[in-house]
Amino acid sequence: MLKKNNKGTSIFSVDVEDWFHILDVESTPPVARWNDLPGRVERNTHRLLSLCEEHDVRVTFFFLGWVAQRYPHLVRETAEKGHEIASHGSSHRLLYRMNPAEVLTDMVDSRRLLEDLSGTQVRGYRAPGFSVRNEAPWFFETLLEAGFTYDSSVFPGPRGHGGMRSNRLGPYTVSLRGKEIVELPVSLIRVAGRNICFSGGGYLRLFPYRLVRRLASKTLASGRPVMFYIHPREIDPRHPRLPMNRVREFKSYVNLASTEGKIRRLFRDFTFTTCWDFIRENREALPVVNLAVSGSANDQGRSSTD
Ligand SMILES: [Zn+2]
Repeated sequence: MLKKNNKGTSIFSVDVEDWFHILDVESTPPVARWNDLPGRVERNTHRLLSLCEEHDVRVTFFFLGWVAQRYPHLVRETAEKGHEIASHGSSHRLLYRMNPAEVLTDMVDSRRLLEDLSGTQVRGYRAPGFSVRNEAPWFFETLLEAGFTYDSSVFPGPRGHGGMRSNRLGPYTVSLRGKEIVELPVSLIRVAGRNICFSGGGYLRLFPYRLVRRLASKTLASGRPVMFYIHPREIDPRHPRLPMNRVREFKSYVNLASTEGKIRRLFRDFTFTTCWDFIRENREALPVVNLAVSGSANDQGRSSTD
């Protein structure tokens, strides 16, 4: 058996939503119909919880508010097993299709609901579809106003929806009008001049495990954690399919049958922690980015001595 890669700690995260929550596809049913559809998220989340238990791994579950409302016991069970409860918003709408007031309400409602159900403080937020298009101060201001301590919505590369061009591939602290919030971006790695994702979604399913392991080890060796992300539907090859064009179909459904095996191997080969535990242990070492009100961002160290 391979030894665990001890060069660093990775973060494993789950966006808890169902098979009909795929974004930007015309066949995705409207919210009014969601309650009538056969849910798969409960059993798939239970399966992920079992995998975590088998490998003694604690991870962060970004719950969609709608899922928490339909399956309140799922939030409680997840919290009772020692995992971190975080928010994936209330209604799974792309951020750029909402106005700032709607975004705030969507964030606050989900945080309050998840805190009530779990009895824990909900510190983290992840936007549906990583739909933050730039490091606009309003986004981080809204997160602070909604009561969050960290965010994990930045996908620093090109993407179908969301995604932004950024050279910041590792975690950082955003400083804004004297307040701070930590950003934990999805892990991308620079290969042949491009930022490539390997740690979640279609990328994790498409790439052979050996390649995922190599890119993860390389990321850890450069001093950054790997932020893995998964959806419960991705370990459920039998879930119903939504009609969509061939490209989206490939991205959404490729290699569903082998994903659970990949997660098992990741859990065996790497060391994992939750988002919040990572922040608690590394906060002082994170670079600080000052976001000016104009929206331009300048890097600066936490102090002049380091
Ligand atoms: Zn989502």
